[in-house]
Amino acid sequence: MVYELSHYIGGQRVEGTSGRYGDIYDPCAGQVQGRVPFAGADEVRTAIASAEKGQQEWAALNPQRRARILLKFVDLVNQHIDELAELLSREHGKTLADSKSDVQRGIEVVEFSAGAPHLLKGEFSDSVGQGIDVHSLRQPLGVVAGMTPFNFPAMIPLWQSGPALAAGNAFILKPSERDPSVPLRLAELLTEAGLPDGVFNVINGDKEAVDTLLEDPRVKAVGFVGSTPIAQYIYATAAAHGKRAQCFGGAKNHMVIMPDADLDMAADALIGAGYGSAGERCMAISVAVPVGEETAERLIGALQERIKDLRVGPSLDRDSDFGPVVTPMAKERIEGYIASGVEEGAALVTDGRGLKVEGYEDGFWVGPTLFDRVTPEMRIYRDEIFGPVLSVVRADDYEEALRLCSENQYGNGVAIFTRDGDSARDFASRVEVGMVGVNVPIPVPIAYYTFGGWKASGFGDLNQHGADAFRFYTKTKTVTSRWPSGIRQGAHFVMPEGS
Ligand code: NAD
Repeated sequence: MVYELSHYIGGQRVEGTSGRYGDIYDPCAGQVQGRVPFAGADEVRTAIASAEKGQQEWAALNPQRRARILLKFVDLVNQHIDELAELLSREHGKTLADSKSDVQRGIEVVEFSAGAPHLLKGEFSDSVGQGIDVHSLRQPLGVVAGMTPFNFPAMIPLWQSGPALAAGNAFILKPSERDPSVPLRLAELLTEAGLPDGVFNVINGDKEAVDTLLEDPRVKAVGFVGSTPIAQYIYATAAAHGKRAQCFGGAKNHMVIMPDADLDMAADALIGAGYGSAGERCMAISVAVPVGEETAERLIGALQERIKDLRVGPSLDRDSDFGPVVTPMAKERIEGYIASGVEEGAALVTDGRGLKVEGYEDGFWVGPTLFDRVTPEMRIYRDEIFGPVLSVVRADDYEEALRLCSENQYGNGVAIFTRDGDSARDFASRVEVGMVGVNVPIPVPIAYYTFGGWKASGFGDLNQHGADAFRFYTKTKTVTSRWPSGIRQGAHFVMPEGS
């Protein structure tokens, strides 16, 4: 039976009225399992009005009371984590363990946000002039919106909304249309935790819903995470409408393997970071850069050995290392890239095409794929494939490896594997990438640091979570005050000076 989802407005589920729907696939069975309504402009505007109303009440609560509601929500999410993980796996295709960490990494940011009222503090300067004091305030923006990708349907909505809510804003989420069940369930849990109605809304939809949010003057800021062309579009459109925007895009993350690296450690890391979640992670490693021919030969051997033991299987099967990709379109795109790699002359060491999983013959399976002797001109190197495809680009020396990482159009994550502190330090300092791992393949910063890539991976000057998020979701007001008992100087006709 095909299920039908709704929106979440004003503290309850609300059926779609536009008559437009999107399909939700079951990636293991390879068929449509549900449909999600695509909101029209009127429905989006109803959500904005509801958010505007709810925000007044929410912002009037002191930060500590808001934090208590968020902590109650964290408790509820923990109580429901198995249910949420299963819901997530059924629509996304990632394994249950991976879905749990999707939820877990999300609520870590809500926990951090609940504990961060100090980030809402302003500053105070006494006696900046005769009898004059200055202080600053951080005030919520009002109604803010977030648009999120399919690959982390819990984590990224929580990364955006945790700090936004803690700072006193109302939030409208436009989640990915491919796996929207978890965001809707999170909205229900927020209401159960005591969040006033209208403070968190979920609007399902496509470009029409996004454009309505971007154009409406009541929405003060937008956070976007997804592919680079859409990130650029959202950034430019939001700016044209006078909104704040932080927009995070695609990635092509490299891992440099130095000749002195622990090869087993590096190969294990590459297998997990390259093929985990079927490569559908913005911090997945998709390019391995061994330094020197001998390192390359040893690495390819170690990878081949591990690839043959990988188990690609149903998301709910606890023995699966990774599951199917999200849609038939994704499978077709990834297989197209594998064909183009072969055509362009890369050496296909392991071919993941044509994989069949017993009992799930129609699922969107792509097995682990390994290319050797990839060069920077090839499409499989230039483009983000977003599938379980790992390319090995051999570098003659460290400088060439560093240059490859820095010159790539993307700059999300990067890693170096080495035992040499000097190389690691030099790499971390010089590489033109936003998040760097030293013997850590997926360097996703913890909640109290910030997350954000450089170049085509991120647009806007503030990152997600950490202190940056509180700067993004608040506006600063600076108050200069003098009281009548201060020294009177009569009328002033020149600008006051600090001296
Ligand atoms: P996507 O760009 O297709 O979709 C992201 C969001 O944008 C969705 O909510 C979607 O409905 C909306 N959208 C799509 N087309 C639109 C349009 N024309 N106008 C307005 N809105 C539109 O991305 P995806 O396929 O869901 O996610 C995968 C991508 O996200 C990859 O490129 C991945 O690297 C990237 N990603 C980046 C980060 C990061 O932090 N940099 C994190 C996760 C994912």
